[in-house]
Amino acid sequence: MYTRSQQLFQRAQESIPGGVNSPVRAFRSVGGTPVFIEKAEGAYLYDADGNRYIDYIASWGPMILGHAYGPVVKAIQEKAEWSTSYGAPTELEIRMAELIRSMAPNVDMVRMVSSGTEACMSALRLARGYTGKNKFIKFEGCYHGHADPFLVKAGSGLATFNIQTVPGVTAGASNDTLTCSYNDLAAVEALAAQYKGEIAAIIVEPVAGNMGCILPEPGFLEGLRSVCDREGIVLIFDEVMTGFRLAPGGAQELLKVNADLVTYGKVIGGGMPVGAFGGKREIMEKVAPLGNVYQAGTLSGNPIAMIAGYTMLHTLSTQPAIFTELEQKTAYLHQELDKVFSASGTPYVINRLGSMISVHFSETPVTDFATAAAADNGLFNKFFHAMLKRGIYLPPSAFESWFLNNALTTADLDATVAAAKASLEEIL
Ligand code: PMP
Repeated sequence: MYTRSQQLFQRAQESIPGGVNSPVRAFRSVGGTPVFIEKAEGAYLYDADGNRYIDYIASWGPMILGHAYGPVVKAIQEKAEWSTSYGAPTELEIRMAELIRSMAPNVDMVRMVSSGTEACMSALRLARGYTGKNKFIKFEGCYHGHADPFLVKAGSGLATFNIQTVPGVTAGASNDTLTCSYNDLAAVEALAAQYKGEIAAIIVEPVAGNMGCILPEPGFLEGLRSVCDREGIVLIFDEVMTGFRLAPGGAQELLKVNADLVTYGKVIGGGMPVGAFGGKREIMEKVAPLGNVYQAGTLSGNPIAMIAGYTMLHTLSTQPAIFTELEQKTAYLHQELDKVFSASGTPYVINRLGSMISVHFSETPVTDFATAAAADNGLFNKFFHAMLKRGIYLPPSAFESWFLNNALTTADLDATVAAAKASLEEIL
């Protein structure tokens, strides 16, 4: 059933570390062989052995409209005829920036980059350059890409593989990283008092998606906003997952909390390698060449990436009903999964906001990294494989959110719930 994937995985390991170009893909924590994907269409992935999967990863977020969305594919094809890169400005970049500004609150100016890592790395540098301070606060289990200062108590693959310290990250690069538990405002207040006048930024995933899906408790983000206002700290929302997914204006709009800087990633490229950081004009004007906070990229604003992202964002901005549909589909999945999980008798927690959802095999609410890590993640791994076998492609780790795409039909959701029922019967 996975013969070709097994062959490809063996071959891949000869020339690619771990056989993959990003660690979580290797299935190391869930065990088994990663399925090698050949193509995708709508809500479905097809692997090298011809197996079909209902996709709940959506390329880790961006495929909001489903795979190979017609207008995006067409736009890329047309644009490619005019070359794939110029390294010079284009009108399309202005249209992209204007569209982002029109959709997202508090974004006066925006700079395009090529990944979420670059976006977060640049936003942190900018916050430091703007405030003249060095320290920053991040939250345990949040992931902001793989730039050195963020690889402290990070989520996603680092949580999955239990990597506590990363060889190669010098003490100098991580000494100014302060960490707190997600949702622990008192700990943030304590750090703000202890390091008064030294903190440049607080960076947070407004809805965490890198330790499963974890929601901000009421008052948490508002509390961060007021600490930042009081102490002159730059509040950075990492909306790499939530931006243009939870609402046209992302978590800022949905949760009604304003950030000073926002980072975006994969979603705004419609599946192409794109990221961006933006925010208040006064801060963004410090970016080179206006200011001295240097940041650059040969492929930043790449025309193929821009046309893909622009086409997708334009669709989302002109058809806001898509957000309601996605929310309704995910709410339906949540409700139906609740039925089969509760009938199974196993302790479980389903966290969800909008089209981000995840399941933890936990007896207690999952509100931060400690509670996510305390869940029965061995059981999750079994659940993952039982689902995969039944044609449901979930993230291969309990420390990741699932993402729904709008190509999913009720029949797909019902098939997913039936697979969950059979999977629980198999593994419990
Ligand atoms: N921030 C968040 C919230 C993310 O989820 C990710 C990637 N999953 C990143 C930053 C890094 O983005 P990239 O992988 O594009 O560098």
